[in-house]
Order: sequence, then structure tokens, then C-alpha cells
Amino acid sequence: MSSIPAPSLVNALLRREILDLHAYHVPDSAGYVKLDAMENPYSIPPELRDEIARAVADAPINRYPDPGAATLKEKIRSVTGLPQGMDVLLGNGSDELIQLLALALNKPGATLLSVEPSFVMYKMIAAFTGMRYVGVQLAGDFSLDLPATLAAIEREQPALVFLAYPNNPTGNLFSADAVKQIIEAAPGLVVVDEAYYAFARDSFIPHLARYPNLLVMRTFSKLGMAGLRLGFLAGSAAWLDQLEKLRLPYNVGVLPQLVAEKLLDHHDVLLRQAEQLKLERTRLYRQLEAVAGVQVYPSEANFLLFRVANATAAFDGLKRRGVLIKNLNGGHPMLRDCLRVTVGTEDEDAKFMAALQDTITQPA
Ligand code: PMP
Repeated sequence: MSSIPAPSLVNALLRREILDLHAYHVPDSAGYVKLDAMENPYSIPPELRDEIARAVADAPINRYPDPGAATLKEKIRSVTGLPQGMDVLLGNGSDELIQLLALALNKPGATLLSVEPSFVMYKMIAAFTGMRYVGVQLAGDFSLDLPATLAAIEREQPALVFLAYPNNPTGNLFSADAVKQIIEAAPGLVVVDEAYYAFARDSFIPHLARYPNLLVMRTFSKLGMAGLRLGFLAGSAAWLDQLEKLRLPYNVGVLPQLVAEKLLDHHDVLLRQAEQLKLERTRLYRQLEAVAGVQVYPSEANFLLFRVANATAAFDGLKRRGVLIKNLNGGHPMLRDCLRVTVGTEDEDAKFMAALQDTITQPA
């Protein structure tokens, strides 16, 4: 008998929502100017390389990591300036935390609500966990459609709401006042996802004590540590102690803990890199704005969304010229002919701009 399962067996056993899903696609980026994934383009600061190499050489990788990651959590509490009485829960990237939250709040029939277009993982994880998903369309300028969102909250009574602040892939920061109204109206938990905080510097962490149904989520991925996979939830022990029960015991490994600790000792260096990227963002915005036929949207994150005629042809043209960005065309209807470029180094951005000019003038 063959040990390969027949497709009919797999289809019969798996949940419908999983069969209907498309895996999150990560393109092969080897050899490209890589501006597709909102990474920090700068590598480890040279003055830190030796210190990190020494620490890694001595790391006890034969042992399980500290399950409570006490040292790392203390450093995160300190660099975040967490208010009194608030704590953090660590995830293997914030993606893992989205999943943990969905698992925790998924009572039968429970709804996860977000806005659209936004980070696709909210919807995907609703499907992974069998939650009902409701997406409320943003206004034409990508701001929150507050009346529609409040009406959806009233109608759907979501157990869990995710708002990306700033939003991905649109790059804008929603009105803080509108977000507060949503938190106040929501019967369930609201998670403000501050993945791009380093580039916007506006946060709901100071408001945690005011809203019992609020948690704030952040990641270190955009601040130079995408390869470490480290995100955190900030909030009160009343929430975190319960969520902690669902966290897999060793979800943040020895090496990520150690390297993140060293990097957070030099948090100022990372913040300076983020400031540099903000300057680059402004430069890139102006350059894109000057290209005939390109409409670029304001951004508070480390990427820019822009619209161009025949976006897929432009995306392919960029790729042929060695530059990888993100094609959003064909996804959400509001993103028709939209592409997203991560802000890179001055040199990478120059290569992107040259390739874009070239592909617009010579599309074939
Ligand atoms: N939230 C938002 C809004 C994001 O854009 C991303 C990454 N694209 C994440 C969360 C996930 O980040 P990570 O899993 O790398 O921490």
C-alpha cells in the first residue's frame, strides 16, 4: 500500500476554511534589492557586532530558553516606558500573538473584526482558528469610516477587534480619537497593533489604564530584528495572565532572547536608524510624487503605498530590473493598481527609483 495519502483523504479530513486558504506567499528574494517586507535595511550596528558574537558563542543552546524571558522582558518594559501595573507577553513575532489572541477569544460563533484594507494576517488567523471574520471598509482616503465601524460593532458584537496603528498596507495613522471611540463602543477586546510605532511615535500604551478592554501589540521586526521573530503584547495582568496559559512554553529561543537583550541595551542606536528611515521616507515620497502617472500616499510607517497605471506590469518590470517590492494589485479592490515599497537605504531607494523610471518609460 502506498504511504502517500490520496488527495481525497486529505480533503475529507481537513477543515473547509483551511482547504479554501491560500498560504501566505513569501517570494524568493535572493539577489534582489529587497524592498518588499518592511525590514530595517541597516544591519547590526558595527560597534555591536563583536559584543553580540561573543554573547552568541557562549549561549547555552543545549538548554531550553528561560521560559519567562525575565531579562528580556525587563528590558522591554524599560525601553517601552510601560505604565505602572502593566506588563508584557512575548511572542515569536507578533503574528504568533494574533493567533494566541484568536485562540483565547474564540468562543463558538465569536467574531473577529478589523478594517480593510489592512494587515491580511487578521483575516487569515480568523480562518486558522475558525473565527467568524468581519472586515469594515475604510473610507476612500484610507481613514477609518467611523460611522460604518461603529455600526458594524453594534451589529456584530465582535469578541476581538484589531486596528493597525499606523495601518499596513496604507501607511496612514488613523485618528486617535476615532480609535478611542471604537475602544469605548466595542463589547470585546480591542488590540491596537503598533507594528510601525518606531516611525509614527504615537501610542496607545499611555491609555492602557483607561480602557479595560485594550491591549497594545508591537513587534521588533521593523526596528532591525525581523530575523529574531519577537513581538509583544502590553496590557494588564488580568489579561496577560490568562493569555499566558496559551503561550507555548519556549516560544522565544535562547538566541533571539540574547541578541534582543544586547540590541535593546543600545535601543538609542535602533531609534536613530528609524529616524534616518523617516528622513529617507520623506525623500522617497518627494521623488515618487514627481513621477508623472504615480500617485503616492502619505505614510507614518517605513513604507510607501503608491498607485501607478498597469501596476502589475510595473511590478514585473521592477523585478526584471532586480528590485523586489510588493504588488497589491488584485487583492482588495481599494488597492487596484497599488504597489508598496519599503523605505530602504539611500542607495537601495535610488536603485528602486531608477528602475521605476525605466520601467515606466520602457515597459516591455
Ligand atoms: N502587524 C502588522 C500591522 C504588520 O504589518 C506586521 C508585519 N508585516 C505584523 C503585525 C507582523 O510582524 P511580526 O510577525 O514580524 O512581528
